Amino acid sequence: MSAVSRKEKADASDVVIIGGGVVGMCVAYGITRHGLSVTVVDEGDDAFRASRGNFALVWVQGKGIDNPDYARWTSASANLWQSFAAELSNEAEMPLFYSRPGGLMACLSENELERRVGALERLHRRVPDTAGFDVLDHAQMKKMLPAIGPEVVGGTYCAADGHVNALRLLAALHRTAGRRGVIYRPGEHVSRIAVSSDGFRIHLGERELFGRKIVLTAGLGNRDLAPQLGLYAPLVPQRGQIMVTEKLEPFLDYPLGTIRQTNEGGVMIGDSKEDVGFDKGTDSRTLATIAMRAIRTFPRLAGAQVVRSWGALRVMSPDGYPIYDQSRQCPGAYLVTCHSGITLAAAHATIIAKAIIADAWPETLHAFSAERFDHVQEPA
Ligand SMILES: Cc1cc2nc3c(=O)[nH]c(=O)nc-3n(C[C@H](O)[C@H](O)[C@H](O)COP(=O)(O)OP(=O)(O)OC[C@H]3O[C@@H](n4cnc5c(N)ncnc54)[C@H](O)[C@@H]3O)c2cc1C
Repeated sequence: MSAVSRKEKADASDVVIIGGGVVGMCVAYGITRHGLSVTVVDEGDDAFRASRGNFALVWVQGKGIDNPDYARWTSASANLWQSFAAELSNEAEMPLFYSRPGGLMACLSENELERRVGALERLHRRVPDTAGFDVLDHAQMKKMLPAIGPEVVGGTYCAADGHVNALRLLAALHRTAGRRGVIYRPGEHVSRIAVSSDGFRIHLGERELFGRKIVLTAGLGNRDLAPQLGLYAPLVPQRGQIMVTEKLEPFLDYPLGTIRQTNEGGVMIGDSKEDVGFDKGTDSRTLATIAMRAIRTFPRLAGAQVVRSWGALRVMSPDGYPIYDQSRQCPGAYLVTCHSGITLAAAHATIIAKAIIADAWPETLHAFSAERFDHVQEPA
């Protein structure tokens, strides 16, 4: 055996996953449950990482208004979350602070409430099996959220919504992966992947990794990697800005779509939707707009100190829905990418991981192929 092939053998895994954000680590978690060896290659701390900057909702309400497949997929994942969180938290010996008390959207005008209810009713008519919702007036909202201000005219409540501590989720996935023998290689930027008859060779500078299968979960980085495997990932960044207050006495028993109190007491407020390319900064005008709405909703926030604010980039496909694909040109290569990777974490760790292991893409995933973007695949 030559030195190269001995080295290749040492660096070989059943599955190589590119990207160690929440999507990649959920897939790794699911795959290792079935006993396969996994290597995760990830960039350094300066990389774009939506998994470290998100709002941490496990959210169903209003998801898939124009897309019944996505509404069902989101519901399915949210329903798997309880057992996923319990198993992961137990194995990682770390609380994730996941809870599912239901979630609210607060409306600050009758017009806003009417539009919101109209959209949810439309969704419910199209997908009757998705989670239901209640329309609340000011008094009903006040019962659930005593701190709301007089400007809140009402809102909607969905019992299927929840939230988690997203940094704990990521930490628990990494800890469990380590314990299950996943090789994690941080600080490595993958730019070239070679396809061979028996698998995939990933070039890391002078070294090479080998995987029988490869899964692209590199967030915005998927865009450049996908064509090398006959896949298509037309992803663009969309910035969201979030701020967090000092720790406050618990006063929010339910998460709202843009305001939630964390297990530590800080109130997270966000988030904007901005088309600013790869700029993950913040600007005071946007933060002031976000803060003003939060104060109108909960006047007591006017006296709270903001201790941190940040911008993070969403991983957006042209229609905002996930892309799940197995490559026809390069069997054994997969693409798994989405916005809402926290909500979809449970489905990624179970349904997607199983599909990759079995090389069998279930019917439910077909709607999420990039083929819907009408792209002609270039030869690899
Ligand atoms: C402001 C904001 C709020 C959000 N709120 C919510 C929410 O409330 N609920 C919800 O469900 N979702 C939410 N999301 C979305 C969620 O955070 C993302 O869907 C999820 O984090 C995507 O995870 P990922 O692993 O695909 O991407 P990332 O976290 O971006 O990870 C990608 C990883 O791939 C690595 N990588 C990239 N290119 C390469 C390469 N060439 N070689 C090696 N490694 C590479 C990067 O280093 C990175 O670690 C929010 C996102 C944002 C930005």
